[in-house]
Amino acid sequence: MRAHSLTALRTAARCSQLPKAERIRRLTPCAIRWSSSLAPSPSSSERKWSTPLAKMLGEAITTTGPISVAAYMRQCLTAPEGGYYTRQTTTGEDQFGTKGDFVTSPEISQVFGELIGIWLYAEWLAQGKKDKVQIIEVGPGRGTLMDDVLRTVSSFKAFANSIEAVYLIEASPHLQKQQAKLLTGSEDLKKSDLGWMAPLKYVPGVSIQWCEDIRFVPKEETSTPFILAHEFFDALPIHVFQNVPQSSIPASSTIITPTGPIKPKHGVTVAKNTWHELVVSPASPFASAGTIVTTSAAPEKAEEKPDFELTVSKTPTPHSLYLPKMSTRYKKLEDTENAIIEISPESLAYASDFAVRIGGGNASAAASSTSNDKSTAFNKTQPSGAALILDYGPSDTIPANTFRGIRSHQTVSPFTAPGLVDLSADVDFLALADAALDASPGVEVHGPVEQSFFLSTMGIRERAERLLKGAKDEETRRRLETGWKRLVDRGPSGMGKTYKAMAIVPYIKGSKLRRPVGFGGDIAA
Ligand code: SAH
Repeated sequence: MRAHSLTALRTAARCSQLPKAERIRRLTPCAIRWSSSLAPSPSSSERKWSTPLAKMLGEAITTTGPISVAAYMRQCLTAPEGGYYTRQTTTGEDQFGTKGDFVTSPEISQVFGELIGIWLYAEWLAQGKKDKVQIIEVGPGRGTLMDDVLRTVSSFKAFANSIEAVYLIEASPHLQKQQAKLLTGSEDLKKSDLGWMAPLKYVPGVSIQWCEDIRFVPKEETSTPFILAHEFFDALPIHVFQNVPQSSIPASSTIITPTGPIKPKHGVTVAKNTWHELVVSPASPFASAGTIVTTSAAPEKAEEKPDFELTVSKTPTPHSLYLPKMSTRYKKLEDTENAIIEISPESLAYASDFAVRIGGGNASAAASSTSNDKSTAFNKTQPSGAALILDYGPSDTIPANTFRGIRSHQTVSPFTAPGLVDLSADVDFLALADAALDASPGVEVHGPVEQSFFLSTMGIRERAERLLKGAKDEETRRRLETGWKRLVDRGPSGMGKTYKAMAIVPYIKGSKLRRPVGFGGDIAA
């Protein structure tokens, strides 16, 4: 049997600088406002936009019609000009830490990355000490997690010697430089076939390669990939759908496509309830009355007025026609009027890619696939490697109304100051697990478990106590002590409960179930 366990636990405390996940001011649909398929208000060319990116998006929507939340999110986070992660910050500071917008676990305590390094080592041991190891991280931020992981790993000589290359998947050229500085001691990157490369400081003879998409990382039958994804999936674009009763749908038969509206030849057939995509269009100049989305917090300050708003697309979109049909989990909600679901196809593609690298592709799926993506055709006679996904989101339910903006440690509307506000949404762990299991017959999935469970069973207390003994001053002691406790704290301001860990590991047919360490298993000697 392939494991697919869901674990839940419970606890409490407080902190001033909060992680992204704890600052949820959810968007709450309150009444349906339908999108018109074409241009918004005539004043859109003269209106004041809060950022150049808002102006660019507003003008594009005026030409082609409302866009999906996914398209909006993608532009706001990684547009080459003015995207949240891709822009050069004005202060020279980055997005992380006290002066930035949010704080993440590796930035809170070095123990986090050290335990992840130990997790990789434990998996490497349990899988029979394979050579040709690839260490891959998607969305490495400042590079702190990878730095702590590699420092830890470099003390396990045999494991370190088995590393062939380190790959960092990063959309931001500025963050790539910052990662290079930390991990190689220099910002001097050399052009490579994949993107950029530089020698790694911890393991002599091994280089780090940067690229923008995991699809560029070489996939070899004999390689053993160890993949880390910390707070990456919450940044991947989501599509949002609402289950709308047919009786409330105004008559129309137009489909909105990325290149403009089209009228299907034979009209559109609709069932009792249908999934309608929520789309983004410029906010009405007459502000909030009748707007579908409101926020539960205090009213926005005048200068923070959202540039955009969400409306329900009254006609099918290319994504509403197939994404909500992809899983029985969505199907079960078909009778629930006005239910909302969030689906991230890009996240599913990443989870599938991880699984195929570890377990090999699903030969029958590849044979029947009509798409050009032949990644599932990749064959692996002996599954090996692992993926560790750490992020926030529910254990087993479908995220709904979790799209949010984060700025200066506050939750704000995702439609204010596009490009200056971080955007994120809860991760649908079960959807990632399903995508991985569907993509490869050679993997099993463990978790999601709460971060508190994962880190506690990995020995966070013992590791922190050892560090505390060596702390050279009171300030270091205090930082260490509050840091590790916060990572496992299950109260409203801690990170132990909201954050989850999930692992994709090899499934060897006929072998006994082996739980990875941190997911109920022990370290194999
Ligand atoms: N893992 C880090 C950073 C999390 S922030 C930490 O926990 O501290 C998200 C990271 O993913 C950033 O490095 C951002 O630039 C990167 N990122 C966001 N969207 C991306 C995409 N579509 N492709 C590649 N990298 C992306």
